Amino acid sequence: MDLSERLVRERRARLAAERLLEQKSRELFAANEKLAIHARSLSDQIVEQRQVVKSALSQAETLKDQNLRFVEDLDRAHTAAVMAERRLWDALETINDGFAVFDSAKRLVSANAAWIGPLDSKLVAPGCPYDEIIRHSAETIIDLGDETPADFVARMLARIDGDPIEPVTLKLRDGSWIKVQERRARDGDLVCLAIDITEQMRIWAAIDVLPDGFVLFDREERLLACNQRYRDMFPDSAPMAQPGITFEALLRHGLKNGHVPQAIGREEDWLADRLAHFRAADTSAENTLANGRVIVESDHVTPDGGRVGLRTDITAIRDQQAQLESARKAAEAANRAKSAFLANMSHEIRTPMNGVVGMAELLCDTALSEEQRLFAETIRSSGEALLVIINDILDYSKIEAERLTLRPEPFDLERTIHEVTMLLQPRAREKGIDLMIDFDMFLPTRFVGDPGRLRQVLTNLIGNAVKFTEKGHVLTRVVGVDDAEGTQTLHVTVEDTGIGIAPDYLDHIFGEFNQVEDERNRKFEGTGLGLAITRRLIEHMGGAVWVDSDVGTGSSFGFRITLPVAEDAAPVQVPVSVKRVIAVDDQFINRTILERQLAPCGIEVTLCRSGAEVLERLAQDPDYDVVLTDHAMPEMDGVQLLDHIRVAGHKLPVMLLSSNPTGLGTLAHDFAAILQKPILRSDLYRHLQGLTAPAAEVAPPEAPPLPSNLRQMRVLAAEDNRTNQLVFQKMVRDMDIDLRFADNGRLAVELFGTFHPDLVFMDISMPEMDGKEAARTIRAMGSQVPIVALTAHAMEGDAEAILAAGIDRYLTKPLRKTAIEGALAEYRPPEARPPVSTPEESAA
Ligand code: ADP
Repeated sequence: MDLSERLVRERRARLAAERLLEQKSRELFAANEKLAIHARSLSDQIVEQRQVVKSALSQAETLKDQNLRFVEDLDRAHTAAVMAERRLWDALETINDGFAVFDSAKRLVSANAAWIGPLDSKLVAPGCPYDEIIRHSAETIIDLGDETPADFVARMLARIDGDPIEPVTLKLRDGSWIKVQERRARDGDLVCLAIDITEQMRIWAAIDVLPDGFVLFDREERLLACNQRYRDMFPDSAPMAQPGITFEALLRHGLKNGHVPQAIGREEDWLADRLAHFRAADTSAENTLANGRVIVESDHVTPDGGRVGLRTDITAIRDQQAQLESARKAAEAANRAKSAFLANMSHEIRTPMNGVVGMAELLCDTALSEEQRLFAETIRSSGEALLVIINDILDYSKIEAERLTLRPEPFDLERTIHEVTMLLQPRAREKGIDLMIDFDMFLPTRFVGDPGRLRQVLTNLIGNAVKFTEKGHVLTRVVGVDDAEGTQTLHVTVEDTGIGIAPDYLDHIFGEFNQVEDERNRKFEGTGLGLAITRRLIEHMGGAVWVDSDVGTGSSFGFRITLPVAEDAAPVQVPVSVKRVIAVDDQFINRTILERQLAPCGIEVTLCRSGAEVLERLAQDPDYDVVLTDHAMPEMDGVQLLDHIRVAGHKLPVMLLSSNPTGLGTLAHDFAAILQKPILRSDLYRHLQGLTAPAAEVAPPEAPPLPSNLRQMRVLAAEDNRTNQLVFQKMVRDMDIDLRFADNGRLAVELFGTFHPDLVFMDISMPEMDGKEAARTIRAMGSQVPIVALTAHAMEGDAEAILAAGIDRYLTKPLRKTAIEGALAEYRPPEARPPVSTPEESAA
């Protein structure tokens, strides 16, 4: 082997080795690489496993926590349950109501103190049987009333087997009440409640003794409760009146049995009405039951929508009302009877009074001595005064019955006041007081009004003034203001200087039967009706009255009315011929009145206070037309003054103005005229006028020559009363008439047929046939002859009836001659002679 070969061989070997090494190194690297990957994945797995372990650990930790909390919660829940039970029992201990639980074998499990209460707590302990406890309570605490202990126990034990168990109310021996209520629980336990209802029972006891029926319904109108009185009121429905029944069912029960008489025949309608009432908020209805009791049923809504009802038996009140009503009716009937009695009495009294007054009037017309005249005048004035009282009483009953109507007609107000004053003059004269009239000069005197009623008012006011005045004067003053077209508002005041009225009395002086009651007033008589009538009359005329007074100084009564001025109002004839007058009066008011009456006529008036002053005046200036002198004056009276005037050589006429002309007696004097005070303006003027033209004044108007063929006027007077016939006859005795009397209506009708009168005077109340019927019969016969009724001052309404009977007009009694003359003149047919030749003179 060569070296080269050897070298080559060696080189080949080295190269192979080198290749192998390379190969191996590559393999090693690859293996290394694999190993590294594996190692990496291993490490990843380890990390992962470590993570899993960690989370498992943490879960275990959480579970452990939860477990721990659960145990804690359980612990707390247990404690809470124990606490709650304790609290529950604690709470049950505090309430007044008893609470107990029995197991299914009815042995006591537990009970609060209230349940055990006064029972023996050793006996009534857990484990004690229910029936044992009932027996024990029957012996110790229950007020059994009439029930035996054995019955009570049996009743109570029987209840317990019921389903549901009915509650029971028990009264205890200490006076309290409990309501026992049991419920069976699902596990068979028995829960027992004993509720203290003492308060409730007290209220019920009170409601039970109420005199009214009490009933309570729930919002479904079902009865909740009612008291015993309610049951008593509706005895037939009482058995039905159990809790739970509806109101409607109760009503239907009553209807079916005819308990409500007013519903019979219309039951459904009545029921609907009653239910509507019940349902309406707050109502009250009245029912009369079949037993006659009257019940007021009032129903009211309770806060929970139910109804509480009260039933009040008002039968007794109704009976009382009925009694009162019948008493009222009886009183009214009595009052009517009283009015009728008054009307009848007035007629009865007036008929003879007619005779008295009429005859006295006739007597006065005859020749009499002074004394006889005084007697006759007194009879007449007393009769008239009596008539005033009768009229007062009658007027009052008329006003009371609201049957007063006014009769307006034209009249002279000044004359009316004058006449009233003149009528009162005698009384005033007796007392020495002056009556004065101050009628506003510029006022018309004729108005349209009811003169009769105004006269009545004036008579009352002036009459009172005279009555309550001892000295001084009574002045009637009339002023007026122009009102609407043709009317005047008149103010009439009556002033006196009398005793006056204390302020306390002033307010009710115009009331009925009111009189001032004091020492000074007691001596005056009167009815106390006058001012009441005055006020009513004036108010009826649309006016008003008033009074003003000072005790001890005097009073002033006044009224205001508005009246139309009469169309026939003629201006007063003023005495133009008289120019200068001296007037003397010691009284200032009288002087003023005279001046006011004369000055506006253009007369120059010199006023003097005394006779001496007149003489002085005349000495200076004798050129006067007339002296007007007062009669009674201090120092020198009117008669003495006349003497002095004549002695001084004055020839002028002197007129005496006197309140008491008869006081002159038969004394010789040469007064131009003697005038009665208060003086009527027209009278004064007439006399002044007469001074210058005496002839014209005295000469009667020349009567037209009468045709000779005229016949007598035929007059038929129907009058049953003999006295009245006589009065009538005497009154017409100087008249030229053919007068026939008939004693009653029937005879009047008979006589009418044969006598053919021109005028009939007809009394109204007559036996057999009264005046109205007689008048109707005459009218039915077709006759239009004038008929004048003669009536007493009767009730209003009679007048209408009188006129309705065909009567033309009526005159009220007592008859006046002038009124008869007036009727004769008015109704004289042209073919008859005037019955009175000089009417003016007879009328004066
Ligand atoms: P009579 O006068 O009938 O008692 P009246 O109704 O007329 O009834 O009067 C009632 C009362 O008023 C009188 O009783 C009297 O007390 C009082 N009285 C009326 N007018 C006057 C007067 N002019 N002065 C004082 N008192 C009077």
